[in-house]
Amino acid sequence: MARRFTEPELVIATHNPGKLREIAELLEPFGTKVFSAGALGLPEPVEDGETFLANAEIKARAAVAASGKPALSDDSGLAVAALGGRPGIHSARWAGPEKDFDMAMERVMSEVGDGSRRAHFVAALALCWPDGHLEMFEGTVHGDLVWPPRGDRGFGYDPMFVPDGYQITFGEFVPADKHDISHRADAFAKLVAACFET
Ligand code: IMP
Repeated sequence: MARRFTEPELVIATHNPGKLREIAELLEPFGTKVFSAGALGLPEPVEDGETFLANAEIKARAAVAASGKPALSDDSGLAVAALGGRPGIHSARWAGPEKDFDMAMERVMSEVGDGSRRAHFVAALALCWPDGHLEMFEGTVHGDLVWPPRGDRGFGYDPMFVPDGYQITFGEFVPADKHDISHRADAFAKLVAACFET
């Protein structure tokens, strides 16, 4: 049985404005006051875990240690079938220090070549309390890569990803529609059912 979240405040352990926006919108119905790790000036920990869940745990524990408040982290990325799951946990790193996702998307397509374009996004969420208690959840969304990228909504690899059952990329999705079906929404539904809903 998961622990219920009843605190008034929560640190969102991310420095990524795209993720912060999505997580804040997803948590809005619960009236929890959210702060971002970036806004609180918390340092970014070294993400040296080997899985999305391990990295989510590292980020959530670091934010709790630095803030004394409960923290929620998200570790996510794009796993491409033809690349054995890469860029995976290195999705952000493929964009380099300049966070150049045009370059990262070009690298994905050049490595995929004529191979399968199947891919999925993964989101791992870790919710950590100041006493060290941890709850973790993972979500996915499957789809196909397209080239060239399309759309300027969303972030990261969104413009090259068409989720199953749709013809448009996440970069072309209205944000509220992406929130309904994304990997983060899938992980969030599990988190909310376990820790937030009464
Ligand atoms: P993290 O901050 O280490 O979890 O990096 C995750 C990276 O995965 C992001 O910087 C994006 O490149 C990619 N990513 C995660 N979620 C999404 C998404 O919803 N759309 C597009 N790219 C995503």
